[in-house]
Amino acid sequence: MSATAKSHYDVLIVGGGMVGSTLACALADTGLDIAVIEKFVPDEIKQNDDYDLRVSAISHSSQNVFKHTGVWPLIEKRRSCAFEKMHVWDADGEGEVEFDAADNGVSELGHIIENRVIQLSLLERMEDHHNISLITGHAVEGIEYGADQSRITLDNGNDISCRLLVGADGANSIVRQAVDIDLEIADYEQKGIVTVVTPEKHHQHTAWQRFLPTGPLAFLPLSNGQCSIVWSADSAEAERLMQLDDENFCRELSHAFESKLGSINSASPRAAFPLIRRHASQYVKDGLALVGDAAHTIHPLAGQGVNLGLMDAASLAEVISAAKLNRRDFTSLQTLRKYERWRRGENQLMMFSMSGFKNLFGNDNPLISKIRNVGLSLVQKNDLVKASLMNRAMGFEGDLPAIARDEYRFEKARQEM
Ligand SMILES: Cc1cc2nc3c(=O)[nH]c(=O)nc-3n(C[C@H](O)[C@H](O)[C@H](O)COP(=O)(O)OP(=O)(O)OC[C@H]3O[C@@H](n4cnc5c(N)ncnc54)[C@H](O)[C@@H]3O)c2cc1C
Repeated sequence: MSATAKSHYDVLIVGGGMVGSTLACALADTGLDIAVIEKFVPDEIKQNDDYDLRVSAISHSSQNVFKHTGVWPLIEKRRSCAFEKMHVWDADGEGEVEFDAADNGVSELGHIIENRVIQLSLLERMEDHHNISLITGHAVEGIEYGADQSRITLDNGNDISCRLLVGADGANSIVRQAVDIDLEIADYEQKGIVTVVTPEKHHQHTAWQRFLPTGPLAFLPLSNGQCSIVWSADSAEAERLMQLDDENFCRELSHAFESKLGSINSASPRAAFPLIRRHASQYVKDGLALVGDAAHTIHPLAGQGVNLGLMDAASLAEVISAAKLNRRDFTSLQTLRKYERWRRGENQLMMFSMSGFKNLFGNDNPLISKIRNVGLSLVQKNDLVKASLMNRAMGFEGDLPAIARDEYRFEKARQEM
């Protein structure tokens, strides 16, 4: 997969994870000379392989981005699981809501897909584009930022320069650190435990979420009938859960889930991730942009993290394409600020909504609990509110980039900018 690196590119993307690779694929039509540097490429997936711990709930709008960049068939040929319903309920009371794709006239609410499947499919798609070079197996170690030209150094000593440097290198982005962009950080003091479990009953193509006072517990359906779980809990409780042997963990998990799918027969080895909200003070400078987790991380309770990053990638690609089409400098701060203005508000809104949900559902004050349960019951009874929430979860609300919309009006949108 590794290309022989040239010494200069128009766009150099550090990080070929889900977001950086999507940006490269979305930029393919621009004719720009693009390099993606990824230090680690996972092994190819085989149909009978055990499911990975890291999965994402991919929204409709993110699916559209994959469709319009030619990546979706490559995901489908590997493996994914559509979910048709979403069932949300509160541990402390009677309140519950069920969202059904059929009520919104769609066949599914989204797909649960392993991160590795998404990344491998994107990397495969890049090989179809002669103007994208994928440089793998090497980490970027040094960065010399310049407004007109930046230079990176790989761990093998090679130097590469570029006009536009993009940090898509995740939450601990070295690009962001090298250009001195500050980070606003709020530690949720929780950890997200992830594992793949085999419940007694089939998941019914439903994404389940129960709000416990210690944090939300999600059961996400997988194509082989198993579920991927994300159990967010206050750090001390998460530590305790991590220390349990498999039998006791499965028993506690089944209890925490009110045995909605019967008993839990087995769980794969667990991993725990600290949950931290981060937001970069700037997404852009002259000749520089940050996308995905390099710019923001949020609580995984609504499974929106990578969806926001994919919208960043699609929006930045649209802004760059429009600048190129209209013969403007695609690397100037003036151009790149359009991307920042576009995405910052959308990301902030989602971040605050997730923090609000976390505080609302993590509160065991009886009055708050009452309000919460009445709220859930009202949502369940009100079709309009339900439809609006469902639209947001499917990624249909907000100012979407053209390739994320159902109707692909990219050309038109580019010309309008
Ligand atoms: C417990 C948990 C559950 C989650 N569940 C969901 C979910 O259901 N839905 C959802 O939308 N989001 C979810 N998220 C969030 C989601 O996983 C992230 O938002 C997403 O992985 C971000 O993608 P990214 O490409 O920006 O960054 P990353 O996935 O971190 O990718 C960065 C890439 O850059 C590479 N890299 C880093 N440094 C260098 C370097 N110096 N040189 C070369 N390469 C480098 C890395 O190898 C990596 O491939 C969850 C997060 C957690 C913690």
